[in-house]
Amino acid sequence: MSNAAKQVRVNTEPAVVIPDLDSTDSGDTSEGEGFAGLETVEGLVDIAVSCDGSWQRRGHQSLYGFESCIAADTGKVIDYAIQSKFCSSCQSHNTWDPTSELYKRWKADHAPNCTINFTGSSGSMESYGAVTMWKRSIAVHSLRYTTFIGDGDSSSFKSVVESAPYNVPITKSDCIGHIQKRMGSGLRVIVGKNKEVECMLKNGKIVKGISGRGRLTLNIINKIQNYYGQAIRNNIGDLDGMVKDIKTILRHYSDEHDTCPADVTSRCKYHTNRDKYKPKQLPEVVLELMAPVFDRLCAVPLLDRCQRGDTQNSNEALHHLLWKRAPKHMFASPEIIKLAAALAVLQRNCGSGGLQKILSRIGLDPTVSTSLFEKIDARKEATIVSSRVSTKKTRRKVLRGLKKRKADQLKEKEAPSYEVGAFDADPDAAGPSRGRGRGRGRRRGCRCKSIYL
Ligand SMILES: [Zn+2]
Ligand SMILES: [Zn+2]
Repeated sequence: MSNAAKQVRVNTEPAVVIPDLDSTDSGDTSEGEGFAGLETVEGLVDIAVSCDGSWQRRGHQSLYGFESCIAADTGKVIDYAIQSKFCSSCQSHNTWDPTSELYKRWKADHAPNCTINFTGSSGSMESYGAVTMWKRSIAVHSLRYTTFIGDGDSSSFKSVVESAPYNVPITKSDCIGHIQKRMGSGLRVIVGKNKEVECMLKNGKIVKGISGRGRLTLNIINKIQNYYGQAIRNNIGDLDGMVKDIKTILRHYSDEHDTCPADVTSRCKYHTNRDKYKPKQLPEVVLELMAPVFDRLCAVPLLDRCQRGDTQNSNEALHHLLWKRAPKHMFASPEIIKLAAALAVLQRNCGSGGLQKILSRIGLDPTVSTSLFEKIDARKEATIVSSRVSTKKTRRKVLRGLKKRKADQLKEKEAPSYEVGAFDADPDAAGPSRGRGRGRGRRRGCRCKSIYL
């Protein structure tokens, strides 16, 4: 059997769930309606989809993987794939002699019902699921997913492009939420790497490290990360505007405010409240170290992929619905995962009323009043509408900022309580295997090893 044939036994591929419920209902999937008006080529419609994967367990040891495709125009889940590396029946027969006639007969009978459909590494589940969905998009929906909205965390996009499912190119659109986080992590990395760098404060005092009072604090890093995200979001479709606004952030912290917005909505106090403005210029050495991070995150190819202003938030919301139904800390059979995934997609596409319609269709009229589902959906809708009110949004933002600032202040005051490998009894002995801080690597660095060896 070839490797490719070994990797996949397609017998538990989930059906593509777009429930065909009452078409007169407004809560129904409006897929056709949403894609109406889009250009078609030979009966096919080209659309943008956000694709993301999730695992039941962390640490690339998960038995199950889940990937979903959500149409950017409609926000509906249009396809999903589940990878399972577990089958309870195979598990119970793993002590049998695989060369025996009895085992071979059982295996042949069991094959159509085996729930294992993937035997590669857990890390490769995401790209495998993405390729599966891209390859069947024309057959299932007459759609071509020509824009891939994703993050840079996985090789899914590369695998999809390499699989060449269509005869047209597939372009990448980056999730701006993930790109925004790169600014914060980039700045935190330079803070960590430059703990010995000497830095002159405004009062002429020379101190070690670029983090702390008068320098690049965690609070300033969070602010810069938010400004970077705003610079992208405020200039959707305007690449030059994005670059200009991002460069303005660094100029602002160099105490040069000629490019800062000067209107009433501006956050630059140099323009809005000059009397109370206190220069917040960062030391020269800090600005020099920050410049490469800004150059990297200002690169035109990167910002070009953010021009649509797409995010993967819908996929993350769907993962939340799935793992709420099949909690990560509990063992779940492949059947439970499949059921949980179907229910999560149903909830996402049709609201709480979707389940009630499915039950009615199979002749199981729920005993609870149908108005209960309607009430749940109405309450949810009201919550969503009220959360979009700008004053509430601002309040949430302020509270989130306060909470984060408080946590950062505590973190800066306290000595590090968690750092990979930092608390080994003999850090040198731990060597390069300290990476995970678990298992053998950790014991190797412990002075007690002579007792146990
Ligand atoms: Zn099996
Ligand atoms: Zn300014």
